[in-house]
Amino acid sequence: MSKRVTVIGAGIAGLTTAFRLMQAGFKVSVFEASQHVGGAIRTASHDGFKAELGPNTVLETCPQIGELIEAAGLEDQRIYANEAGQKRFIVKGKKPIALPSSPPAFFMTPLFSVFAKLRLFKEPFIPSWDNSYEESLAEFVVRRLGQEFLDYAINPFVAGVYAGDPKDLSVQHGFAKLYALEQKYGGLIKGQIKGAKERKQRAEESKQSAKMISFKEGLSTLPETLAKLLGSGLSLGRKVTSLIQEKDQWSVQSILEDGTEQSTSADHVIYAGPIYALKEITLDGQLQQEFSELSEIKHPPVTTLTLGFKREQVAHALDGFGMLIPEVEGLNILGALFTSTLFPDRAPEGHVTITAFIGGTRQPEIALLEDSKLLEVVLTDLDTLLGVKGKPVFYLMKKWDNAIPQYNVGYGKYKMILSSLEQSYPGLHFTGNYCSGISVSDTIKHASELADLLVEKSKQGVH
Ligand SMILES: Cc1cc2nc3c(=O)[nH]c(=O)nc-3n(C[C@H](O)[C@H](O)[C@H](O)COP(=O)(O)OP(=O)(O)OC[C@H]3O[C@@H](n4cnc5c(N)ncnc54)[C@H](O)[C@@H]3O)c2cc1C
Repeated sequence: MSKRVTVIGAGIAGLTTAFRLMQAGFKVSVFEASQHVGGAIRTASHDGFKAELGPNTVLETCPQIGELIEAAGLEDQRIYANEAGQKRFIVKGKKPIALPSSPPAFFMTPLFSVFAKLRLFKEPFIPSWDNSYEESLAEFVVRRLGQEFLDYAINPFVAGVYAGDPKDLSVQHGFAKLYALEQKYGGLIKGQIKGAKERKQRAEESKQSAKMISFKEGLSTLPETLAKLLGSGLSLGRKVTSLIQEKDQWSVQSILEDGTEQSTSADHVIYAGPIYALKEITLDGQLQQEFSELSEIKHPPVTTLTLGFKREQVAHALDGFGMLIPEVEGLNILGALFTSTLFPDRAPEGHVTITAFIGGTRQPEIALLEDSKLLEVVLTDLDTLLGVKGKPVFYLMKKWDNAIPQYNVGYGKYKMILSSLEQSYPGLHFTGNYCSGISVSDTIKHASELADLLVEKSKQGVH
C-alpha cells in the first residue's frame, strides 16, 4: 500500500518534498494556510513591470535544482541572469564601487586600505579556532581577515543575504561552508583552493561560481507549476492546527477559511511552514514546549520595494547585479538590485527597475514605517547613491513581518530540538529554510534529501 504523507505549507520546501514524493508513488496531500503557493516566492506584474516581492534569483548550487526544474518541465522557461550581473557594487563614501573581480583589481580597489590588503597575506598562517566558545561571524572574520573586511565585505554581504548582523550570526551554523574551510583545511585561502576540487567531484558549485537563474515570467513559475502538477493533492486556505499521533499513524487537524474543521490521517507528516509559526500547532492535544522554543528563532522584518523609472531619471548605468550597503555608511536601505539589468522584460521599453531592501536586524523600525514615509527614505538614498530624480512611474512594496530566520550563535540548540522531535515522534519530519540554509537553493536541497530519505526507508519497509 502506498504511504500517505501530509505536507504542511506550500512554500518551496513543502512543494519540493511533496512533488518528489508524489513522483515516487506516495499519496501526498499538501495543506497551505494562505490562498497562494510559493510562500516567500511571489512575482507580481503590473503595467508592463515585473517585480519579485521576495527572492529575485536562485543560485544553481546543487544538482537537485536542475532536477526539479527538469521534472517540472520548466527547462524552456528558465533564464540565466545577464552577464552584467557578475559586477557587484559596495557603497563606500556614499558611492557605489565595483567589487574587484581579479587579484590585480583587488590590489587597485579603493574599497580597502593598503593595510587591509596586506593583512590578507597573514590569513593562511592564522591557526584554526579550537576553542569550545562558539564564534560569531564578526569574530571569525576579524580574527582571520581584519576589521575592514568585516565592515566593507562581510557586513554588507550578510545584510544582503540574511538581513542579519554578523555580530549575532553563528559562523558554524549560518556559514557552515566557511566554518568548514577553516576546520578542514586550516584557513579560507587554502580551503578555497583545495575545496574547489572536492566540489567538482560532488557536482556542486560554489556560491560565487553558481549560475543565477529565474524564469521568463518570474520565480513564481516554479511553485505555481509544482502546484499544478500536485493537482487535487494541494488544498489552499487550509491551516493545520493540531497533530495527534495514534500508534504509527498521524491524525492531522486543519481549519478552512470558513471555520470548518477537518481531520485526515497520514503515515508521515512533514512540517514545511515557517519555524516561527510552529507554536500555533498543538501536538497530541498540548502546546509543546519544544514548538515554542523553536518559534523563538528570530526573524527580523524586511520590506522589498521595486521601483520603476524612465531610463533618463537614473544617472547611474545600473550595469551590475546591484549594490550592498555597509552599516558604517549610515544609510536607510540595506541594498538594492538592478533588477531590469539582471533579467529581460522586467520593465517596459525605455524604463528600468530597481528593487530596494529595507530593515533587517540592522534597522527593523525602518521596514515597518508607514508606506509614504518608507518610499520617501528609499528615494532619498537612491538619489544619493544612483542619482535617481523625480517620482517613480511604478512601485510595489511588500512588508515581510518575519522575513528570514537568523542562524545566530547558539543555533545548535534548535537543530538538536528538531532532531530529537523527529526521533521521539516517528513519522514527523521538518523541512524549510530553518534546517540547513536560508536560500531557495539550500531549501530545495534539504527538501529533496528528505523526500529521498522517505523513499529509501519505504523501500526498506522502515517507517
Ligand atoms: C524579502 C526576501 C528576499 C529573499 N531573497 C532571496 C534570494 O534572492 N535568493 C534566495 O535564494 N533566497 C532568498 N530569500 C529566502 C527564501 O526565499 C526563503 O528562505 C525560502 O523561499 C523559504 O521557503 P520555505 O518553503 O522554507 O518557507 P515559506 O516560503 O515561508 O513557506 C511556508 C508556507 O507555509 C505556510 N504555512 C504556515 N503555517 C501553516 C499552517 N499551520 N498550515 C498550513 N500552511 C502553513 C505559509 O503560508 C507559507 O506559504 C528571501 C526571502 C525574503 C523574505
